[in-house]
Amino acid sequence: MTVHFPFQNSYSALPDSFFARVAPTPVAAPRLIKLNRPLAVQLGLDPDLLETPEGAEILAGKTVPSGADPIAMAYAGHQFGNFVPQLGDGRAILLGEVIDRDGQRRDIQLKGSGPTPFSRRGDGRAALGPVLREYIVSEAMYVLGIPTTRSLAAVVTGEHVLRETALPGAVLTRVASSHIRVGTFQFFAVRRDTDAVRRLADHVITRHYPELLTAERPYHDLLAAVVARQANLVARWLLVGFIHGVMNTDNSSISGETIDYGPCAFMDAYNPSQVFSSIDEMGRYAYANQPRIALWNLTRLAECLLPLFSDEQEKAVAEAQDILGAFGEIFSEAYQAGLRKKVGLFTMRDGDEALIQDLLDAMAKNQADFTLTFRKLGDAAADDGTEVRAQFMEPAAFDEWAGRWRARTSLEPQTPAERQAAMQAVNPIFIPRNHRVEAVIQAAVNNDDYAPFEELVKVLAKPFEDQPDYAAYADPPLPDQRVLQTFCGT
Ligand code: AMP
Ligand code: MG
Repeated sequence: MTVHFPFQNSYSALPDSFFARVAPTPVAAPRLIKLNRPLAVQLGLDPDLLETPEGAEILAGKTVPSGADPIAMAYAGHQFGNFVPQLGDGRAILLGEVIDRDGQRRDIQLKGSGPTPFSRRGDGRAALGPVLREYIVSEAMYVLGIPTTRSLAAVVTGEHVLRETALPGAVLTRVASSHIRVGTFQFFAVRRDTDAVRRLADHVITRHYPELLTAERPYHDLLAAVVARQANLVARWLLVGFIHGVMNTDNSSISGETIDYGPCAFMDAYNPSQVFSSIDEMGRYAYANQPRIALWNLTRLAECLLPLFSDEQEKAVAEAQDILGAFGEIFSEAYQAGLRKKVGLFTMRDGDEALIQDLLDAMAKNQADFTLTFRKLGDAAADDGTEVRAQFMEPAAFDEWAGRWRARTSLEPQTPAERQAAMQAVNPIFIPRNHRVEAVIQAAVNNDDYAPFEELVKVLAKPFEDQPDYAAYADPPLPDQRVLQTFCGT
């Protein structure tokens, strides 16, 4: 039996300027490290066959499965605010698209599968560490309910890639509802190719926003829809303490999924200005800047769409501004609603927003762990709050706030147990903490030991469930375990 991929490709049917046809470059000795079996089944693939040597060869790019139409996608992008007219898939190759069990179209892409016409000075390869990081974090985001690309498999190539040192090479199989980015629109807009922008917009509407196919002003509504999805996405990030790290326009997905996990990280202690990425020297992509940056990126998307709005530039700009103006409210509503759930409020009252902000301020001042504070606050709904208080350097800061919180929650009819259960369902106990991710990567890279990776992935698969045998995975790092910086590793 050979592995069958039920490909139904649509992007490679678009005009030639949208991509470059390029096959993955074969590697020496592919070895499957991890297959996401449930995802394989969801995609209509046979997990047993993918686990055979032939499957590993496909997932490493050594063999191209039948029906694949491998391409590298063209895109441009603003990197840290600077526009680069041509980026493109420099180390990723889209094998093709399948329709999954829910009727959803999904891209299957190999990341790290060799050079493409867009590689510039890069080698087209990926190192094992970043591949494992993306696998862990993207799957963790998925079970947290946050829109994201997913990871189908990780293989080591049997070759080394040269970074600062020689590192084991690896390929990640990434699954996305598409890999179309804000930067994809910019690629054509900067070339003043309005036909291509329209063609791309039509493709995106058909694929991601089919409800707009019959709209009177489909391109305006497309912008509005992407604004809404991005605003909701960033709110979800903030609510779990996630920092993307490289919110360049080429890393901003048109479908509203989290994409391109590089130096991303979850914060431990709550700090709105937290930055982990080694290359983000100015803090452009700091935790609390993310909404502002998402809007900045959407403004770049709007600029691309202006010629589709109207021939009159002024009118088009005014319409775009009007649509972008909705971002703030959509974001705030999603963020505030999420926060209310995190602190266990079932209703909305005047003063709630200030009450919650006071908690966040006290957390920041007291270096309270973001994840554990909310989780243990859930327990405090049913007990005296000893554990949540312990998250604060000065526990008295919590006590003062807790009195007001208890007074507020007592206005609602829910029992303590009901409130606790509702809070546990939205406040995870397990997140991919940096020091855990680092330890897993070190074991794999230095000792070829994947047991820690397997265990971490297993624990993170149930982020809302207390898992007493793995309680230590909930702990923040000890001072000497703290990871202060993360790296792209490209
Ligand atoms: P990223 O930082 O991963 O979002 O990548 C930014 C751009 O650099 C994209 O165009 C990538 O395809 C390209 N790139 C990153 N790493 C490599 C590499 N090792 N080889 C070739 N291109 C790369
Ligand atoms: Mg990228």
